[in-house]
Amino acid sequence: MSETIFSKILRKEIPAKIAHEDEWTMAFHDINPQAPVHLLIIPKKQISTLADVQEEDMPLIIHIHKVAQKLAEAMELEGWRIVVNVGEKGGQEVFHLHYHLLGWTKE
Ligand code: 5GP
Repeated sequence: MSETIFSKILRKEIPAKIAHEDEWTMAFHDINPQAPVHLLIIPKKQISTLADVQEEDMPLIIHIHKVAQKLAEAMELEGWRIVVNVGEKGGQEVFHLHYHLLGWTKE
């Protein structure tokens, strides 16, 4: 797959407000937030879309969900939503797998 803007964020060649980073993932604030908290959780592995995820990637997918749980707890979100857009018709603009974490705090 070809590189996207998220590859540059992963390499820290362009700035992003990073909320979490570990061996497998990075999470950063969306540049155009659609909720009071809007993070993007991405794998460091280059996978274009959720449709390209393979059986061998399942530990990574589980890990992304754990990161979402931890971030929601750390940011004291009262309610939150995970969105994954798949393909152009599904609203995907950046072809590096990413999980939108949209969150609402207690106020
Ligand atoms: P998609 O439509 O592919 O599911 O979501 C891509 C998301 O990436 C959008 O919500 C968009 O605002 C965000 N985005 C695009 N470019 C950048 C960028 O350079 N930095 C950050 N932090 N977010 C970006």
